[in-house]
Amino acid sequence: MGKKTFASGGVHPPEFKELTEQLALEVMPIPARIAVPLSQCLGKPAKTLVKKGSEVKTGTLIAEADGIISAPVHSPVTGNVTGIGREHSGNGALQDVVLIRPSDRQEKDFFQPIEPAGASTEELLERIRLAGIVGQGGAAFPTYVKLSPPEEKKIDSLIINACECEPYLTRDYRLMLDRTSDLLSGTRIIMKILNLRKGYIGIEDNKPEAVRKLLQSTESDKDIEIISLKTKYPQGGEKMLIKAVLNREVPQGKLPMDVGAVVQNTGTAVAVHDAVIKGEPAITAALTVSGKGIRNPRNLIVPVGTSVKDVIDFCGGIHETATRIIVGGPMMGTTQHSVKSPVVKATSGILVLTEEEIPRGRETACLKCGRCVSVCALNLLPTRLARLSRLGRFEEAEKLHITTCMECGTCAYECPAHIPLVQWMRLGKRAVLRMQRNRN
Ligand code: SF4
Ligand code: SF4
Repeated sequence: MGKKTFASGGVHPPEFKELTEQLALEVMPIPARIAVPLSQCLGKPAKTLVKKGSEVKTGTLIAEADGIISAPVHSPVTGNVTGIGREHSGNGALQDVVLIRPSDRQEKDFFQPIEPAGASTEELLERIRLAGIVGQGGAAFPTYVKLSPPEEKKIDSLIINACECEPYLTRDYRLMLDRTSDLLSGTRIIMKILNLRKGYIGIEDNKPEAVRKLLQSTESDKDIEIISLKTKYPQGGEKMLIKAVLNREVPQGKLPMDVGAVVQNTGTAVAVHDAVIKGEPAITAALTVSGKGIRNPRNLIVPVGTSVKDVIDFCGGIHETATRIIVGGPMMGTTQHSVKSPVVKATSGILVLTEEEIPRGRETACLKCGRCVSVCALNLLPTRLARLSRLGRFEEAEKLHITTCMECGTCAYECPAHIPLVQWMRLGKRAVLRMQRNRN
């Protein structure tokens, strides 16, 4: 078992995982108010099926998918719908939410469990679609779409992304330790759907305990291979992982399926297990609450629609030194302007950071040091692309493959001139994607 990694670029930010890595996942109690967003995936928002006064149980379908790239939404609690509202999401945009007041008595409205050995591929895939599972690795793409590649794309490899390369986050680590057999069960269900005999779980070597436990659990059945990878950010990027595990390059503008691979996150595999074996739709988020600004760091299972504030309060509140709240990891997460925003299916962490944890510096002119170029694992030219984006020269940015950028933040982390490179990349990328849509 060698220490594999991707070819070029990458950085080693301080990990800060020690704040929560020893803390097992706990179930957070249901808060007094739930606001479930209709838009929780990379695609169209779901269409509401309930109205003010509707009574729902835990798992009741409250909004159906609107088209193929969309995911249904279920109630995370038993209670009464108090209205359909408009509230701010974590990125500041207004979104539609179903407001629910939880009841004292909680009842389940789950699907019938399925025994995977006797089920067809179609039945398993349909369960994943109906359960509203979305990718837990950040992009929140509907999982059933990713597991339905076109016939001409021959898939020969499934990789479970267990890198969790973002600093602070340890929820995937805890899923590996606390729900080992469920993770393997979910992985095998996905393998069955993709008609694969072999699957891989890629884990960074800063998680030896998880590697040991998974190796032990797969000892008698070699259908799943545990691959220990070098700890390097962004090892969890799909293209990086495919290079490290399979030694295959995904060409620019192409997808993992073009090289025969499907990548799923650890949390997604566990959600697949829950939907198939327990009949539970995607109604909770496993997340890490960490940072030196939070009083009691924790790893939690939180009902979707719980506000960031309620999660923070459950963790004892914030220290006076707290200066920033981020949803997600520090490299790719979103700084929150309001603590009212709700937890969604793909929320992986809530970080409360202090001044000392946020390296600040005044932005200066580019020093032409080339560091951003040498650390970009996708071999892009961040300095040039950021400049083109700033100048609105989007056609040129398109030619230099700005849409390939995975917004990993590595270039910005490394930049001594403190240029917000990733913000410019994000802006340019959106403008180019808009341009491309208008062209079609
Ligand atoms: S944010 Fe984009 S340009 Fe910057 S290092 Fe990551 S992939 Fe490269
Ligand atoms: S790292 Fe920053 S200062 Fe150096 S070339 Fe890139 S943008 Fe310029």
